Amino acid sequence: MVKLSIRDYEVGGKTVLLRVDYNLPMKPGPGPGAGEILDDRRIMATVPTLAYLVQNECRVVIVTHLGRPQGKRVDEFALDPVSTRLSQILAMPIVQLPGCRGPEVQAAISAMPPGSIAMLENIRFDPGEETNDPKLARDLAGLAGLYVNDAFGAAHRAHASTEGVAHHLPAIAGLLMERELSVLSSALEASERPFTAIVGGAKVSDKMAVLDRQAVLVDTLIIGGGMAATFLTAQGYTVGASKVEENRLDYARNLMAGEKPGAARVLVPTDVVVAAGFAEEATSRTVRVDEIPEGWLVLDIGPNTAAAYAQAVSESKTVLWNGPMGVFEWESFSHGTRRVAQAVADLDGIATTVIGGGSTADAVARLGLASKVSHVSTGGGATLEFIEGKELPGVAVLMDAE
Ligand code: ADP
Ligand code: MG
Repeated sequence: MVKLSIRDYEVGGKTVLLRVDYNLPMKPGPGPGAGEILDDRRIMATVPTLAYLVQNECRVVIVTHLGRPQGKRVDEFALDPVSTRLSQILAMPIVQLPGCRGPEVQAAISAMPPGSIAMLENIRFDPGEETNDPKLARDLAGLAGLYVNDAFGAAHRAHASTEGVAHHLPAIAGLLMERELSVLSSALEASERPFTAIVGGAKVSDKMAVLDRQAVLVDTLIIGGGMAATFLTAQGYTVGASKVEENRLDYARNLMAGEKPGAARVLVPTDVVVAAGFAEEATSRTVRVDEIPEGWLVLDIGPNTAAAYAQAVSESKTVLWNGPMGVFEWESFSHGTRRVAQAVADLDGIATTVIGGGSTADAVARLGLASKVSHVSTGGGATLEFIEGKELPGVAVLMDAE
């Protein structure tokens, strides 16, 4: 169902609660540069929506989360650096509010002139956000006359600021949300075979949960990143000190057995890059998967695996990629990701290629290959779930276009 967007609605002069996904990668602390923004593409992606609302004399109240502060104030996740960066990008002042509700916030919003922007404090400082507390949803709705959701990357979660609030206000899509939905739907509708999904990265339990649905959708499922250790263990190999999801071993085994009708072929590493510890300068070497030393960690796929994965990618007509193949931020463990990224980029003009996830997008951008993929989605988990055909709660609550 196509959703109403800000272009289809009379937004002029309204006070707009705008949900964005400014969950930006920040340099972890302590140490020099801690808390620095490493990548502001998620801000850049919302500029068209902000510009449109400001031009239409709206009072824009931004709401976003940052990190996982778990319902309490955690200084390292306060939004000042984010509102400062947004202010630089838009070359206009942004009022950073001290909280998300209450009389002080209310008064500051009432005093905003038309065409101005304020930012609420990190919504995940409030314990009601992740529980989708109805009181928080109503309080947020009380701040504005219109709700606009541009946070595609957070739309797979039914939280107070992504779902609950939309029941109390007219709720429509921002331009980024609109674009994500239309590009991903057409990529999916047109999905030519062979269809290959590449899944890696770090959020292993989250991502394992979607694999069986992926496996019936695609022809080839490529496994890399942190979850490779679980698949290798399921095959009977020992993976040293790598983290294994013990309760997912049967699941991994079943996936690899491919017994379900329409099940994908699953590709798992045959060689890996292992390190003596989880550190950039750790001693590392490439080994076959039956030679992983005790106490070492799997931090990348090996060159033979990377070549096999690149080959599978090159034979595809549709590719969906979420999650790097290794700890690509560190040179010694970046080669697998680089090889796969190159194979995806080589399909430019030949196949439909969709990349999702903050780190995956970052990896592809660092390699200068972003312009060679069909679509770089701002979502990670949301992109995977959308491609599977699941209705995202943050999208479902938006008003349908006629
Ligand atoms: P995305 O942001 O693209 O959705 P994730 O957030 O799931 O991806 O994971 C990205 C992170 O996964 C990167 O920071 C990368 O270093 C890490 N990673 C990849 N492979 C491994 C591995 N084998 N062990 C530990 N971390 C890994
Ligand atoms: Mg990520």
